[in-house]
Amino acid sequence: MTTLDVTWARDWVKASAAVVAEHRVDLIDLDRAIGDGDHGENLDRGFTAVLRKLQEAEPETIADVFTLVAKTLMSTVGGAAGPLYGTAYLRAAKAADGQSLDAAGVADMLDAALGGIVARGKAEVGDKTMVDAWSPAVAAAKEVATSGGSAGAALAAAADAAAQGALDTEPLVARKGRASYLGQRSANHRDPGAQSTALLLRAAADVAAGGRR
Ligand code: ADP
Ligand code: MG
Repeated sequence: MTTLDVTWARDWVKASAAVVAEHRVDLIDLDRAIGDGDHGENLDRGFTAVLRKLQEAEPETIADVFTLVAKTLMSTVGGAAGPLYGTAYLRAAKAADGQSLDAAGVADMLDAALGGIVARGKAEVGDKTMVDAWSPAVAAAKEVATSGGSAGAALAAAADAAAQGALDTEPLVARKGRASYLGQRSANHRDPGAQSTALLLRAAADVAAGGRR
């Protein structure tokens, strides 16, 4: 598929709920090591609520899908991740205002999401947060867009970069969020928010490739 439409957006939400449920315990374990152990629980509760709302509302544009996700995550996911992901999806909704997304649209949408996370959480690359997955994902999507690739290729590159970014948080010492309370002891663990970001972007790419619905 060279461009993505509202069906992709809806299927991404469904795949997100599935992937978060599947990895709930992994995310809890990551957060237990350097936080309070609720990240998997928080996201699972959030995306379960999103799924229910999606079935009730049947949004007809990509922007409406993302707005629904944003509002539901903000009201059901507590902690740091709820407002951060909520803002990300809200900004993504504003960026994705047309009927379809090409590679440049994907890059802009991801860039807007990252902008929301940074505006809200003030984290920089290297602080060991979800920004360390989002930031390389945006760069990778932009590169695909610049070289004339498809929307699906942009998402695939973003997912790969986010996975690498999440892996690269392992040696880092946290400077933001709950993990920063641990100081040096936060090193040698993967950041849970970076890992959930990698999972969500992989789901987006898989759905675009027709692999996960
Ligand atoms: P809490 O830390 O309140 O328990 P969660 O466990 O749901 O919330 O989410 C923790 C994740 O949120 C972290 O792994 C990190 O990726 C992300 N995070 C925390 N603070 C920030 C911040 N200021 N900026 C970006 N991401 C952050
Ligand atoms: Mg937590």
